[in-house]
Amino acid sequence: MFQTSPGMRDILAPESARWRHLNGVFAEVVEAAGYQQVIPPLLEDLGVFTRIGEATEIVTKEMYDFVDKGDRHVALRPEQTASVCRAYVEHRPTTPWKTWYTGSNFRYEKPQRGRYRQFDQVGIEVLGVDDPHLDVEVIALGWDFYRRLGLQQVRLVVNSLGEPEDRAQYVSALGDFLRAADGLSEQSRATLATNPLRVLDSKREQDAPIIAAAPTIADFWSDAAREHFDAVQAGLRLLDIPFELELKLVRGLDYYRRTTFEFVGGTLDSAQNALGGGGRYDGLVEALGGPPTAGIGFALGVERALIACDDEGVFEAPDTSVEVFVVDTAGGEHALAITTELRAAGVSADRAYEQRSMKAQIKAADRSRARYAVIVGTNELDEGVVVLRPLRTREAQQPVPRADLVATLQQRLQEGQT
Ligand code: AMP
Repeated sequence: MFQTSPGMRDILAPESARWRHLNGVFAEVVEAAGYQQVIPPLLEDLGVFTRIGEATEIVTKEMYDFVDKGDRHVALRPEQTASVCRAYVEHRPTTPWKTWYTGSNFRYEKPQRGRYRQFDQVGIEVLGVDDPHLDVEVIALGWDFYRRLGLQQVRLVVNSLGEPEDRAQYVSALGDFLRAADGLSEQSRATLATNPLRVLDSKREQDAPIIAAAPTIADFWSDAAREHFDAVQAGLRLLDIPFELELKLVRGLDYYRRTTFEFVGGTLDSAQNALGGGGRYDGLVEALGGPPTAGIGFALGVERALIACDDEGVFEAPDTSVEVFVVDTAGGEHALAITTELRAAGVSADRAYEQRSMKAQIKAADRSRARYAVIVGTNELDEGVVVLRPLRTREAQQPVPRADLVATLQQRLQEGQT
């Protein structure tokens, strides 16, 4: 017997409906702000992703890459920012290009709660605008989205990684500091060799005091970087969005500069408490062969958002049960005709199959959680009627002329009577 591969999951109902609903809420929030959906392929040339940073684990250790039958070295996307930038270079849409996306990403990580090898993200990316008001808009849309899900315990942390030169000076100073520090964990020493910034992400206790004492980027901000960041913070205050400055917040990819931010879940274990994050990544389009182009965006984990919703007891799965369930003990043709008529009239309808007994069909009707059962029996048919039985109330069942059935149901459902 086969099972899903480690770190991969089937999403069954009712969770699948909740999943779709989450995507719908996200689309509403961002489309109301002028973002349009982009659907990049799941698979790209490996180079698209190696451009996002040779020194990130996502690229060096976790990629699902392989050589295809045409000898192309390709990879399943580990994230979608690089794909969106590749699409920008390929199609050169007019700017500002405000996009949103949803879909699966693949990372060969150690699976645990909130960490999977196939996971979904919803996200936005905007190319071609350097205005700090856009940073505020992007952050505010993420904030709104979590609010719309009903989450109350999400924290927003923000930082600025400065201009590329500020960042370079900081990385060098941080590297010096960490190399001189006593007691850094072995894993962090390995990270230090390739990407000192990433050491700040270490959750290992042993590293905590060293990280706490390390220099912060704030000492390296140029005037321009400070000004941009001040404007972002002022905008967030204007919108009454609470945030915390977190000067040790870094993002993995090499192209991040200036604003970076993260939404942190209040209920999740600290190793998996990042619900989502983003920032400016000016430079990525250029690295993919395009002109210098400002970029900013975020990606929010779908699984973690839903775990946070479970923890807070919000955002239940929507009711996807049908409105009507047809029970037919007269051979089944009536069920076929009635369900077809109802569906054509905009009423969702299901039925029992295989000419089961009345009892078995009624049981199926109850299980379907429909609002009404329509019961078709030979005796009633002789009189030209079917029986309409409310399933969610104690209201009595009643005969309805077969010819009036669809109109009667439409009316009852519209009136909200059950
Ligand atoms: P990143 O693209 O690494 O910045 O991740 C953005 C968000 O995607 C994270 O905050 C998580 O919510 C989610 N995420 C990243 N990796 C995984 C994973 N392996 N499993 C589940 N969610 C993930």
